Amino acid sequence: MSNTGVADNILDVEKIRKDFPILSQSVRGKPLIYLDNAATTHKPNAVIERVRKFDAEEYGTVRRGAYKLSENATQLYEDARQKVADFMGAEKKGEIVFTSGTTQAINLVAYSFGKRFVNEGDEIIISNIEHHANTVPWQVLCEERGAKLKVIPVNDDGELVMEEYEKLLSSKTRMVAVNHISNALGTINPVKEITEKAHAVGAKVLIDGAQSSAHTKMDVQDIGCDFYTFSGHKMYAPSGIGGVYGKMDVWEEMPPYVTGGDMIMQVTLEKSTYAKPPARFEAGTPPITQVIGLGAAIDYLEGIGLDKIADYENSLLEYGTRLFKEIEGVRIIGNARHKASIISFYMDAAHPHDVVTLLDQDGISCRGGHHCAQPTMIRYGVPATTRASMAFYNKPEELDALAESVKKCIRFFS
Ligand code: PLP
Repeated sequence: MSNTGVADNILDVEKIRKDFPILSQSVRGKPLIYLDNAATTHKPNAVIERVRKFDAEEYGTVRRGAYKLSENATQLYEDARQKVADFMGAEKKGEIVFTSGTTQAINLVAYSFGKRFVNEGDEIIISNIEHHANTVPWQVLCEERGAKLKVIPVNDDGELVMEEYEKLLSSKTRMVAVNHISNALGTINPVKEITEKAHAVGAKVLIDGAQSSAHTKMDVQDIGCDFYTFSGHKMYAPSGIGGVYGKMDVWEEMPPYVTGGDMIMQVTLEKSTYAKPPARFEAGTPPITQVIGLGAAIDYLEGIGLDKIADYENSLLEYGTRLFKEIEGVRIIGNARHKASIISFYMDAAHPHDVVTLLDQDGISCRGGHHCAQPTMIRYGVPATTRASMAFYNKPEELDALAESVKKCIRFFS
């Protein structure tokens, strides 16, 4: 244990940092301190090199060519799907549908599930602490189908009020869509309990896993949810790739979302029939290289161990929270009992946009804004927050530097 209280026997962070070339650069003459990992994460050499090798030596189209390069690329692409399925605890590889990320994944489910199963008078439940990606698609669906959107309230600490959730559930509920970890507050939601309660009234459940996939061990079968989304760029993989797990029997009932090549069984000028999932939901040439990179990122994460990552990041969170609670004039927004490595804070002295501009002068990358969660900001009566979001390559000394820089901001603006 170092004198910061952050356990230094869980991970060799200095060694890990050497895997991420971008972390050794300077910003404005200061060493880069990257604390915007909830927005996107950096790539380790293992991913950068795998992508380079694939493009340089193995690249080919998938699912179409009957020649060596294409056959090999198709095998690698499907191997990556298997890795994702194992990583998420899915029963079958075909339950994983690749998309460009969580936004497209939720749009796919809202459109396709909604078209088949949501009708006038039905209800969809989300929570007050969702990303816009898990809000707007359901609003659009409800408008189009004459359904009603209901919202689980949160308490002052940023936790879902479960008694209120139970009151919202009824035989009219078709879908409950909530995040596993809130990107704005860091709250870890009780997704297993949420799923059990929704299933008891016959509703389906979508878990937005954009923030959780790289921070906690996932097990979609244990959670029991019907859909679980993820974004590769938030789990050390390239951008432009993500996806959604769905139970095969639910996928099979759903119509396509995007149509065109690769998602069909047969096309005549009069009529088309559709392929089985997952192909039914992957029209067109997919982001082949990015899928290979995603597979490499999963290998890398598993090499370190999700349990160790979670333990180390929790330790960082505890340390950072202690530091921030001691800074006068700073209020942490989101103090849930179960939290992931996100500290969102507000100071009356300055708007978060000004705060992050000053932090940047010290080489610190933090996010200031509404984090695509405006209803959450409204709930806590703030226009925006400054958010420090940590990854396993962050060090306690970086949080010390952040705290000092924040104190400097307070002096500057007071
Ligand atoms: N859901 C949550 C909780 C997020 O944090 C984000 C991105 O920040 C998204 C959805 C959208 O993910 P993407 O931009 O990768 O589609």
